[in-house]
Amino acid sequence: MLIKEFISQQNKSQIISTLLNHYKVHSVKVKMKSMKDYAHFDVDRGTLELSTKYRTIKTSQIKEFIITILHEIYHAMDAKKYGWRKFKDMYEMEMNYRIANDQDEYKDNKYEIAAEKFGQQNYRKWFQKFKKEGLF
Ligand SMILES: [Zn+2]
Repeated sequence: MLIKEFISQQNKSQIISTLLNHYKVHSVKVKMKSMKDYAHFDVDRGTLELSTKYRTIKTSQIKEFIITILHEIYHAMDAKKYGWRKFKDMYEMEMNYRIANDQDEYKDNKYEIAAEKFGQQNYRKWFQKFKKEGLF
């Protein structure tokens, strides 16, 4: 039996662009970057930065990968909804609010919590769709 251990670059790109198009944030550019985190949405530039740790994805990482992309897409949708400048202010205010309350600026951040929830709630249907399409 042949087990596909890695997802092809083409299929990885297809997963990302399908998600960006579905959530109507097609203008988001994707960039690979060497960084500590797995992903980051750069609000100023409208760029989804993906860690080079995701240059190749194992099939075992696909769930985590889809959740990560959905999480960042949620930030992109917020930026689109409020306008990126306003959203950036809102986000910074939230960070300051958490710090002032002795909480974690990210873990307790309402925008981070909402983005993570969105990823967790939506990954399953995408996982099944992409699997059915033979992308992994
Ligand atoms: Zn986030």
